[in-house]
Amino acid sequence: GKLSLAALNEIAAPTAVPTYARESLSAGIVHFGVGNFHRAHQAVYLDELFNAGQDLDWAIIGAGVMPSDALIREKLLAQDCLTTIVEQDNNRTAARVTGAMIDILPTGDAAAIIERLAEPAIRIVSMTITEGGYYLDANGAFNPKHPAIVEDGRHPEAPRTVFGLIVAGLKARREKGIEPFTVLSCDNIPHNGKVTYNAVTGLARLADPDFANWIAANVSFPNSMVDRITPATGQREIDIAREDFGIEDNWPVFCEEFRQWVIEDKFPAGRPALEKVGVQFVLDVSPYELMKIRILNGGHAAIAYPAALLDIHFVHEAMEEPLIRSFLAKLEREEIIPVVPPVPDTDIDAYFQLIERRFSNSKIGDTIPRLAQDGSNRQPKFILPTTKDRLARGDDVIGLSLVSALWCRYFAGTSDSGKDIVFNDASAERLHAAALEAKTDPSAFLALEDIFGTIGHSELFARRFSHALKTLWEKGTRETLTLYLGLRP
Ligand code: NAD
Repeated sequence: GKLSLAALNEIAAPTAVPTYARESLSAGIVHFGVGNFHRAHQAVYLDELFNAGQDLDWAIIGAGVMPSDALIREKLLAQDCLTTIVEQDNNRTAARVTGAMIDILPTGDAAAIIERLAEPAIRIVSMTITEGGYYLDANGAFNPKHPAIVEDGRHPEAPRTVFGLIVAGLKARREKGIEPFTVLSCDNIPHNGKVTYNAVTGLARLADPDFANWIAANVSFPNSMVDRITPATGQREIDIAREDFGIEDNWPVFCEEFRQWVIEDKFPAGRPALEKVGVQFVLDVSPYELMKIRILNGGHAAIAYPAALLDIHFVHEAMEEPLIRSFLAKLEREEIIPVVPPVPDTDIDAYFQLIERRFSNSKIGDTIPRLAQDGSNRQPKFILPTTKDRLARGDDVIGLSLVSALWCRYFAGTSDSGKDIVFNDASAERLHAAALEAKTDPSAFLALEDIFGTIGHSELFARRFSHALKTLWEKGTRETLTLYLGLRP
């Protein structure tokens, strides 16, 4: 039947439902970006904590600023903000209904959002707003000249960005003498806490430098590393939830069984006892996040484009293609892992083997189009920093330059078999134009300064990239990968 609080008792085992009463929860967190990942990750950890009868005053209030958020809000409000989570690996599937979110604020309604942010009960403001949501320039620095930021700087009383809302919320609290909340980014960005600090203080500085200084001195922005592969929801997922689990959920979330969350323990306004449900609190998150972003996200960013060029739709199908599986393994072992610094209590080779298994999960239906989207934000965060580190050390970049060449070849717009590629990237037009030009003049792609930065000026990189791109055009993706692997074509 239709998912709702009233109908929870109709859900049959083994599908789990909350063991706590919704009325016993009260708000402690406002979360921006109620996408799939948040509901598969943070909301699941909190649901588990509430199921254990703990910290019931840390329920989540959702918020968002994008038009797409309004649609999700409607879908979720119609089912009392409940979400069905289907966890799957190759041998096991489990479904549960989670209830940690108790309301979602009207999308982009600055007054309503600021009022909520100013409530003393809200002690954490968290976010998953994608890599592109932080207004960064090519060097990873906050860009105060972005039109949306300039606008919020001019109208701090009616902000439209997440950072403008956070600044306004902090200001309202300060005026009322309420201690500030902690700001917790859960996006896949190296030093996500620091990046968020730069965005919040950078924006505040435009309108009120004194207040920016106050934020810098008084607000905590812990870094965090988040991990759980969570595909987008489509009709397939909605159908499986109904047919296999008897739940009519407007927007169920499917994900793998694995999950990890490592957070710096800097919460002056308090926090839920998430260590009781498996969250690791550490002094310094950076070794964990670097490992994860470069090996896992970098791995995704590396296999997406060869798979797309070979017309492969699902990630596990890409892993079943020996050329792609071996390409990933060689790239990781020879170029990525050697420049990842050691991580406490972690065997990095075992970590990568686990990732190979996770990518091979045939059940969650993660797609190549999802991995291939938004490359203009992802390549600079997941791939190019490794390239840059290697070049700085004088190490070769044969595999990494091939990754960039594959990305460029993809942006020419057709797969090897001649099928059209549908781009999902804010910079698609620019990239497409540059990729077409690069077919005869590879330097045209590396000239995208905002993406390649100084890497484009490296003679070694340019040479390797040109060679790889030329091979891709002349011999196709299969033979290029075969040559890279040192196999006989
Ligand atoms: P999603 O598309 O389901 O949700 C994205 C959310 O971000 C939406 O609420 C959207 O409105 C919001 N958003 C996008 N651009 C924004 C902007 N400029 N300002 C404010 N909000 C903006 O995607 P998802 O799967 O939930 O992933 C979101 C993020 O979570 C990822 O980009 C990544 O940083 C992190 N993450 C995702 C996964 C995963 O497997 N899906 C794993 C680890 C981390």
